[in-house]
Amino acid sequence: MGLTNDSTGIKAVDSGLIIKKMSPDDKVIAVAGNPNVGKSTVFNNLTGLNQHTGNWPGKTVTNAQGYCHYGGSTYVLVDIPGTYSLMAHSAEEEVARNFICFGEPDAVIVVCDATCLERNFNLVLQTLEITEKVVVCVNLMDEAKKKNIKIDFNALSDKLGVPVIGTTARKKKSLDNLMQGVEQLLSEPKEKAPYKIEYHQPIEDAIAIVEAAIKQRAIKINSRWLSLKLLAYDKTLMTALNEYLGYDLLEDEEIKQALMQAHGLIRANGISKEALYDNIVSCVVRTAEHICSDTVHFEKINYNARDRKIDKILTNKITGFPIMFALLLGIFWLTITGANYPSALLSDGLFWLQDRISDAFLYCGAPKWLHGMLVLGVFRVLAWVVSVMLPPMAIFFPLFTLLEDLGYLPRVAFNLDKYFKKCCACGKQALTMCMGFGCNAAGIIGCRIIDSPRERLIAIITNNFVPCNGRFPTLIAILTMFFVGAAAGPFSSVLSAFLLTCIIILGIFMTFLISKILSKTILKGVASSFTLELPPYRKPQVGRVIVRSIFDRTLFVLGRAVVVAAPAGLIIWLMANISIGSMTLLAHCSGFLDPFAKLLGMDGVILLAFILGFPANEIVVPIIIMAYMAAGSIIELDSLWDLKQLLVDNGWTWITAISTMLFSLMHWPCSTTCLTIKKETQSLKWTAISFLVPTAVGIIVCFAFSNIARLFV
Ligand code: GDP
Repeated sequence: MGLTNDSTGIKAVDSGLIIKKMSPDDKVIAVAGNPNVGKSTVFNNLTGLNQHTGNWPGKTVTNAQGYCHYGGSTYVLVDIPGTYSLMAHSAEEEVARNFICFGEPDAVIVVCDATCLERNFNLVLQTLEITEKVVVCVNLMDEAKKKNIKIDFNALSDKLGVPVIGTTARKKKSLDNLMQGVEQLLSEPKEKAPYKIEYHQPIEDAIAIVEAAIKQRAIKINSRWLSLKLLAYDKTLMTALNEYLGYDLLEDEEIKQALMQAHGLIRANGISKEALYDNIVSCVVRTAEHICSDTVHFEKINYNARDRKIDKILTNKITGFPIMFALLLGIFWLTITGANYPSALLSDGLFWLQDRISDAFLYCGAPKWLHGMLVLGVFRVLAWVVSVMLPPMAIFFPLFTLLEDLGYLPRVAFNLDKYFKKCCACGKQALTMCMGFGCNAAGIIGCRIIDSPRERLIAIITNNFVPCNGRFPTLIAILTMFFVGAAAGPFSSVLSAFLLTCIIILGIFMTFLISKILSKTILKGVASSFTLELPPYRKPQVGRVIVRSIFDRTLFVLGRAVVVAAPAGLIIWLMANISIGSMTLLAHCSGFLDPFAKLLGMDGVILLAFILGFPANEIVVPIIIMAYMAAGSIIELDSLWDLKQLLVDNGWTWITAISTMLFSLMHWPCSTTCLTIKKETQSLKWTAISFLVPTAVGIIVCFAFSNIARLFV
């Protein structure tokens, strides 16, 4: 029996509770697991969707759903955030726990890492406490095999009383057995009760007292588990439970009495509230150890020796930073060099097409304004966006994703952790910063991996200091035109890459500085500690990475830019061609902004382009070009050097170039990012602050730079 899948009707479910079934008979399956065990890979291969995968813990922060057809049935699979336990301490753990407890899935697949099963079994056991409908998926079997780890699946399945299936999720075929296990679990009556964790006395007696009261109520949740949670009071769970039940369970007189009696019993045995919690946790851990002791066999060799050796170099105080710098430089160099040729080719092709379209307009006798609006307005901006953005993105995204798949990002976080701590922020901010390189909105969503609300806000407000892919083309084009020069020959791309790396480092420096200022002012507090797991280095799936990063990221970002660029091209053409009095609308607007923009080392057109670029940063340069071209200088833009001439003719100097780059690095987040911030913080105040902080910083930096620089010319 084979697997088929389709990707219709994908829906991100933030609350984790809105399930979209194709038919009422569809079964809902939650895919749970510790972070970085291959959950999203299992989910993607079963549903045909493309949830973000990557070799670092914490990248799945929301629930996503997709469909899998197997054996004539349709399953709605829900990929839930990675979590080590269901005793929620963080936002993702809460999302995961709430879905398993209250999302009423028909079954839960708990994906485990075969190379450290014992630790993963804590989650398996906690899930089994909530529901009997569990399938344990022991993934990464290829890695376990290399490490000579042998797992007795039959014995494990016997002990746990649920199917336990070994998989290598990267190979789609190996997931057939998993779905067979799910099908079996849902179709056959259970012969054996699933494993039950035995707690020490008097906890078991206390559970029995509360459970007796709960069983009298018609509550769909497992009564033993609920009794335990009521005993070890968990505030966030109680809030979610009350919302689910529609009333406050603790107001129920009988349950209140039972709880008082049970707590009395526990106290009488000298167990405090904290000790009760520790007792429960240690019971789970010991049970996991016990189960794995005679079912998982391995020779005691340090298999991670190779990884530790590499880590000694990559996270070393002396070598760590130069390597990070060299990798960044290498990625930018490859991006700039590789993009040159296809960019020129695309631009030639598209401008050739523009001439042909113009010929066609002429041939049909179309009015001049229509040609101007559609060809010189809409088409020209689109041509620029495609030819300048597509090649660098198609190179940058796969390279960055390869590093991510290899497992390098957590090492970056490790290296930067000390500095974030010094700024009273969280080291995980390095990971959200890395995500911001692709898209700041993705970086903002990624901030959910930071537990402390204070540190999460700092990460959100400062995320915009790393330029997203929409801003790279602006930076690269200006750098190459003004600071590399046509004469620099083979070294021009190295120089461009070096200068771009310096700009990124300035952005990172500003992230530290502003994080520090925020934590000393409006977001006062000390840095919390956290454990950062360094995952094993994994061979990246080169083919998949290239295909996925081009389809999921490059074309997505390009599509967004194109959608925004077309109307923006139209608006700017209209503004340049509608006159009020003796001046065009464009001249009025840029003239109005000019005095302020000049203070910042730019001009009114540049500032207007940044304002009109609010929907997407990608269109800032095309708007500048259009505005200058519409303002009179008729020029054939065949190369970057012609473009430089256009800018110089309009008064650009190296000061204008640097000020524009600085403002591109530090100004308001784009509209998508602002909406994401509003959604994530649920607060207009913090959205406004996230908008104002980078803008104010950009204004101050540009003002200071341009006025100091003018003293030297
Ligand atoms: P998640 O955090 O649990 O969703 O994990 P992902 O699905 O993102 O996978 C984490 C990393 O493990 C990625 O680099 C995957 O390509 C890799 N991976 C997933 N399953 C396997 C597997 O069975 N074998 C190997 N070698 N790598 C895997």
